[in-house]
Amino acid sequence: MDEFDVVVLGAGAAGLTAALAAADAGASVGLFEKSSLVGGTTCLSSGVAWLPDNRYAREAGVADSRAEGIRYLRSLSRDMIRPGMAEAFVDGTAEVTEWLERRTPLHLSLVPGYPDYHPEHPGGKPQGGRSVEPHLFGFDALGAWADRLEGRPRRMMVRETPVGGGTGVVAPDEADRREAQRLEGLGRAMIGALLKGCLDRGTEPVTDAAAVELVQDGDRVRGVRFADGSAVSARRGVVLATGGFEWDPGLVRDFLRGPMSYPATVPTNTGDGLRMAMKAGARLGNMREAWWVPVCVLPGQSNHGEQAVHLVLRERTLPGSIMVNRDGVRFTNEAANYNALGGAFHQLDPGSFDYVNDRCWLVFDARHVEEYGGFTLPPGQAPEWAQRGDSVGELARAIDVEPATLEAEVTRFNAMAKAGDDEDFGRGRSAYDGFVGDKRHYPGAASTLGPLERGPYYAVRLHLSTLGTKGGPQTDVDGSVFTVDGDPIPGLYAAGNAMAGPTGMVYGGAGGTLGPALVFGYRAGRAAASGGRR
Ligand SMILES: Cc1cc2nc3c(=O)[nH]c(=O)nc-3n(C[C@H](O)[C@H](O)[C@H](O)COP(=O)(O)OP(=O)(O)OC[C@H]3O[C@@H](n4cnc5c(N)ncnc54)[C@H](O)[C@@H]3O)c2cc1C
Repeated sequence: MDEFDVVVLGAGAAGLTAALAAADAGASVGLFEKSSLVGGTTCLSSGVAWLPDNRYAREAGVADSRAEGIRYLRSLSRDMIRPGMAEAFVDGTAEVTEWLERRTPLHLSLVPGYPDYHPEHPGGKPQGGRSVEPHLFGFDALGAWADRLEGRPRRMMVRETPVGGGTGVVAPDEADRREAQRLEGLGRAMIGALLKGCLDRGTEPVTDAAAVELVQDGDRVRGVRFADGSAVSARRGVVLATGGFEWDPGLVRDFLRGPMSYPATVPTNTGDGLRMAMKAGARLGNMREAWWVPVCVLPGQSNHGEQAVHLVLRERTLPGSIMVNRDGVRFTNEAANYNALGGAFHQLDPGSFDYVNDRCWLVFDARHVEEYGGFTLPPGQAPEWAQRGDSVGELARAIDVEPATLEAEVTRFNAMAKAGDDEDFGRGRSAYDGFVGDKRHYPGAASTLGPLERGPYYAVRLHLSTLGTKGGPQTDVDGSVFTVDGDPIPGLYAAGNAMAGPTGMVYGGAGGTLGPALVFGYRAGRAAASGGRR
């Protein structure tokens, strides 16, 4: 049986960071990945990490502090964040970024101006300073591993895309250079760089290795068994970094607080780490929570054999669009951050005992299509599969909504948009709202508020999806998993979406999931390497 000091399960951001941190601390590391490709959901992501009080902001002259970061998270906690975890996260950002810059190929820099997701809360940053992203990474450095990452090459940084405040256009010469040098940005750059760090230290991932069971000797976790019957032993610790449980319908039903469909993640995230931790007697936390996000399905397109989805972000933020529920009425600030919108989708009506906003449509007009496009299409093109009507009333009939109700809703919204103030839901009042909207009008409300006046009108059905669940075994600040009684399970650690989310319900800002994954992946890897004596 192969024997390592530390065994890491899952090769996304959390797992690779844990493996790299453990290897850098001198441990021999076995890294096992269920899929035939490495990188998990992180490869599909934009690779942004939210790190309060970080060195890049300081270098850019943006004021932030430990106290402000903690105050901000506390102000949003609603008693869901365990004492100590928010502090450990904010305290960890300095150490992890110092280590990444000095000891690994992953180099980060600020996404300029990206506001926090609740920037007007105490300690929030309306002008940004906490969202950082990987530098472009050259895939030639990975040798044969360059073709074994999830997702597809994207040769841009977030700051260059409309979602990060850019234009989405790279000069042709620069685009050619990136192509020739196989330079990539976003989530695959993060994974590429972390993987390179692991390979440099002799830690090569083993793919097609689905862990199914922990091997225990009394309480102590001593190793892992895989689906093919093989096993490895871990002298000092096992790190669960197997992502969330969003692809296991039973776990989703048993734990999540409300409806969720069409997960946007890799389908190998089926809660295997959660199940292993439960069998070992772990105490669970944050189980009802996920990183929520509204999506639409892309008819006829699939991803890993599953229905392909599109994250609906700019389309609902740009002027000339509203979201309405099954009754044809608005129910929220459409430009709010995607995670917080989950709460609006989960509103339960006591009378009908139904989730009244779960059947939801994005409604937009011809000007929205002409100016912005959307749903992966350029300006001027509307998706063929969108519902369509020459008038608002005709569109209402197409989506089975009372025409008079939708007409009244559009009329009311148009009046508020022209007056520049959404009296009903405050769309455009937060510094976050228009950041991915129409940049010509940012930071004004007109970056997101605009009337729907020109037919034809369109509607696209939205669904509440997730970027990953974030409940799992509860841990201490170094990722050591607790028993139901609150004692450590010797030799067992968790990180990333596999652990009980250290930020509760909160998505602090762009990168709100990968920031904690880096910090707690690092801490868990270090702690496991030291056999818990950190
Ligand atoms: C389109 C998109 C954009 C996003 N953009 C951002 C962003 O910019 N910033 C941000 O913070 N978040 C973003 N997210 C969310 C973010 O990608 C995830 O929260 C994050 O990648 C989770 O990291 P992880 O390491 O915990 O899980 P993952 O990256 O999903 O890795 C988990 C790995 O574990 C493997 N695994 C599962 N079970 C087993 C097993 N039994 N044995 C071995 N291996 C196993 C999986 O195959 C997978 O490779 C985005 C998500 C999407 C879908």
